[in-house]
Amino acid sequence: MPTSLQHSKQRVSYYYDGDFGNFYYGQGHPMKPHRVRMTHSLIVNYGLYRALNVMVRQEKRRTAVFLTQKFQRPARASFYEMTRYHSDDYINFLRQVKSDNISTLTDQMTRFSVGEDCPVFDGMYEFCQLSCGGSLAAAAQLNRKESDIAINWMGGLHHAKKSEASGFCYSNDIVLAILELLKVHKRVLYIDIDVHHGDGVEEAFYTTDRVMTVSFHKHGEYFPGTGDLKDVGAGHGKYYALNVPLRDGVDDFTYERIFQTVMGEVMARFQPEAVVLQCGADSLAGDRLGVFNLTTYGHGKCVEYMKSFNVPLLLVGGGGYTIRNVSRCWVYETSIALNLDVADDLPVNDYFEYFIPDYKLHIKPLTTLINFNTPEFIDQTIVSLLENLKQLPHVPSVQMHPTSISSDAVVKTFDQSLRRDHQNDDIRESRFDEDVRVENSSEFYDAREPTSRNTQSNKRQRNMNTAEVEGFKKTRIGEEDDV
Ligand SMILES: [Zn+2]
Repeated sequence: MPTSLQHSKQRVSYYYDGDFGNFYYGQGHPMKPHRVRMTHSLIVNYGLYRALNVMVRQEKRRTAVFLTQKFQRPARASFYEMTRYHSDDYINFLRQVKSDNISTLTDQMTRFSVGEDCPVFDGMYEFCQLSCGGSLAAAAQLNRKESDIAINWMGGLHHAKKSEASGFCYSNDIVLAILELLKVHKRVLYIDIDVHHGDGVEEAFYTTDRVMTVSFHKHGEYFPGTGDLKDVGAGHGKYYALNVPLRDGVDDFTYERIFQTVMGEVMARFQPEAVVLQCGADSLAGDRLGVFNLTTYGHGKCVEYMKSFNVPLLLVGGGGYTIRNVSRCWVYETSIALNLDVADDLPVNDYFEYFIPDYKLHIKPLTTLINFNTPEFIDQTIVSLLENLKQLPHVPSVQMHPTSISSDAVVKTFDQSLRRDHQNDDIRESRFDEDVRVENSSEFYDAREPTSRNTQSNKRQRNMNTAEVEGFKKTRIGEEDDV
């Protein structure tokens, strides 16, 4: 049972769909949606759900107002909503492709990079709809000022591009959520603590000053290959992208120092009206694909720090491939959002056997992993980053540039539709039975078997140069003609 550290005045909403854990990328694939169901089970069994703020749309479900202990089940994102960023062709393809018609769609599979890292699996389109629907509903909730913090652990799929799947991501729920937030917030800050560079989100907002992206990630011979310190944005967005390249083995102390130094300065200079924090858990020690050495405490410190600014905060998931640790991390971060203390002894839950042998919430750093981020390296990186930040104009001059990003145009067409769609969010009583499904046995064993690291491809090694920036403009929101 959680105990209250102090009365939290922050209202926290949480988005989850019981169907999400059923999606399955295929045997041996490191991405396991099941981890979100494990997280949910911990949230339920720690009793955290009691403190989650549930907004009920009274006009549609007046009787439900009097019920308690419900979860918001977000509406699935529609084709129209997903194509506010993604191309029609691409989303049409995701909707159309099935495991039994792959052979007839080989050209499109290649064109949209679907196949290897991003395989076709049953229900792939619905998976995207749920992931995006959760983040859109969460953003809409913040826009309505009905919550201070909104959480969607089904989201955070930061690698997806406008017309391309990448790094296990097909649809970019984060870009859609930021577009939603831009309807009522002048400036939105995106922070990414996944071990991989948040390339898809950075690319989408590379030329606008209304969204600042800051990514902390492993850099150098590592997927996706982007995220150099020198990549700072372009056009109106110059200096509104910040990249923090790190080396293997970063520990809690080092991460906290660079994170808080950089983010403190970003908050002071950019003064965002809303913050999106991607909480990819592959930056934890012992991740199947990651190379960092953070504990749940160190990872959670980022959430704690960003929460301390009292700016509307959207928390989304992301990577994370040692699934027992992913669920530990995200339930802990849910407790931080709620300002509730949770015991280190895990409660009995539907997946208790995954947490053998210690059955504890928190993880320890690996003693065998060397931290290659020396104090000198971190100091130099901080100096460079602060230099970049000094280039930012004073906040009052950061205005909405009608030509720099499509969001103003997006708002006109997007706003009414989204408002309409999400007023009908399906809010229903919690159905624990839905979430106590028998897991696929391969999910269980895959999570423990020793596996090689870095199975993700490194196909998108990319250094930004002027020509490429020009080329990319076509794919960026700020340059869209049709929105
Ligand atoms: Zn990742």
